[in-house]
Amino acid sequence: QVPLFENGQKKKTLVILGSGWGSISLLKNLDTTLYNVVVVSPRNYFLFTPLLPSCPTGTVELRSIIEPVRSITRNSPGEVIYLEAEATDIDPINNKLTLKQSTTVHSGHSGKDTGSAKSTVSEYSGVEEITTSLNYDYLVVGVGAQPSTFGIPGVAEHSTFLKEVSDSIKIRKRLMDVIEAANILPKGDPERKRLLSIVVCGGGPTGVEVAGEIQDYIDQDLKKWMPEVASEIKVTLVEALPNVLNMFNKKLVDYTKQVFEDTNIDLRTNTMIKKVDDKTVSAQVKSAKDGSTSMIDIPYGMLIWATGNAQRPVTQSLTSKIDEQKNARRGLLVNEQMLVDGSKNIFALGDCTFTKCAPTAQVAFQEGIFLGKHFAKLHEIDTLQYQLAHPTPTDNIERLTKKLSKLQEKLPGFVYNHQGSLAYIGSERAVADLVWGDWSNVTTGGTLTFLFWRSAYIYMCLSVKNQILVCLDWVKVSMFGRDISKE
Ligand code: FAD
Ligand code: NAD
Repeated sequence: QVPLFENGQKKKTLVILGSGWGSISLLKNLDTTLYNVVVVSPRNYFLFTPLLPSCPTGTVELRSIIEPVRSITRNSPGEVIYLEAEATDIDPINNKLTLKQSTTVHSGHSGKDTGSAKSTVSEYSGVEEITTSLNYDYLVVGVGAQPSTFGIPGVAEHSTFLKEVSDSIKIRKRLMDVIEAANILPKGDPERKRLLSIVVCGGGPTGVEVAGEIQDYIDQDLKKWMPEVASEIKVTLVEALPNVLNMFNKKLVDYTKQVFEDTNIDLRTNTMIKKVDDKTVSAQVKSAKDGSTSMIDIPYGMLIWATGNAQRPVTQSLTSKIDEQKNARRGLLVNEQMLVDGSKNIFALGDCTFTKCAPTAQVAFQEGIFLGKHFAKLHEIDTLQYQLAHPTPTDNIERLTKKLSKLQEKLPGFVYNHQGSLAYIGSERAVADLVWGDWSNVTTGGTLTFLFWRSAYIYMCLSVKNQILVCLDWVKVSMFGRDISKE
């Protein structure tokens, strides 16, 4: 049954895809009494990605940086339905989504395989897939991006990424595995050396932060428990360009290089990985002097791949269905109101879009705030249009028409307010390029910046619970060190 407002107007269904930075920010800033709001995401929690690189080594616990979607929807003014599912197809002509839920609960007991839902049991896994469909009046696509591999052979099979909770768990397990496996081999064994080689590919902030965190773990914890292994383990950061952290000021890039040198992180710039097998990465090295190139092999025990974003299949499929998106290679093209080019009712935000802003949490979060306000305006427009179509004897048609055209003409566009960039570089140091208003730009790196970095991230955490848990994790690590057990 379609819910109606008191004046008889239909409440429109707004479907929000995703539970990341963009979608959750929209949800928190949306007047949910104005729409029938449905959130669809395969992840039933929000993940505070800026602290994810601290998780594999246990500087911060994963549970401290996640917040259940339902604890957010519970505080919404109107009812919000959450469906744990993945949108596999968007039909922009019929305003219809195809949803897939993967569950180990058999359909007869899940309570979700009713109506038009179809279920298929995948052959060997025991995982059951439930597919269903959902109609929308307005759709917001906030599905983020997936890690890029650039189609480089072997990457998908042999490396771990750092995007989701499961990636952090994988990295931790692999790190502990290679340490223990190397430990039973005699010193000087080439296999021991290979196992203790940790290669991180990509000198963007993800690669730099995770390399810094692993080196901290080696220097501050492993050294106490397994000094011999700790002295042999080597972290190598491979970057195709001449510098790491290219979005930062040159002074901070040089500072990062210096910190890496002091902490024994082997930084290999101008080195592009071209092929990966189960034990070795093959990379092309470009000489800084004459531009000549040569190939090198780097044996590894663990490879972490952090070379940026690629579009998700559902985003790619949507772009292929809309003529205006023909040139959208790196994400959905949107106008200044975040409306998908070529659509009248599909909006997109965050990493699944391609705009002049970088794909960061800061951008997605601000876009969510913008869309929250925009949907309040769209509701006002819809209400006026309804009133004009169903006038009462007391309605002043001329006044309503004027009000409507004024609202439509004056719809504001999204304006990004860049507050700066922050990154942790290891050994309790961070770099920051901060912007205060139009007049001040502060470039700073070091231990004080590290304290600022910590306070800024605590401030940004979504809930007081997360803020307290993260602080407790930091206190715990400073008192007892990091846990080196595998689980
Ligand atoms: P996401 O936050 O990735 O959320 C996407 C959501 O969509 C997820 O809930 C996902 O489960 C869901 N989803 C996926 N597929 C589907 C589907 N088919 N149907 C429905 N839902 C789907 N940025 C900063 O500004 N500062 C930082 O310090 C920072 N640190 C980072 C550290 C790491 C390790 C990483 C990986 C990124 C970091 N970023 C940082 C970047 C930032 O996390 C992203 O820019 C941000 O998450 C983008 O938000 P989003 O909402 O577009 O996507
Ligand atoms: P990125 O796109 O910022 O950096 C990827 C790096 O990998 C590039 O420097 C690229 O030259 C390099 N690269 C690509 N292919 C390579 C190859 N074959 N061999 C060697 N190097 C290769 O990716 P990211 O660090 O994953 O970040 C993704 C987005 O998330 C960015 O917008 C970033 O700003 C944001 N982010 C921000 C923070 C922060 O602000 N602290 C932290 C993490 C991520």
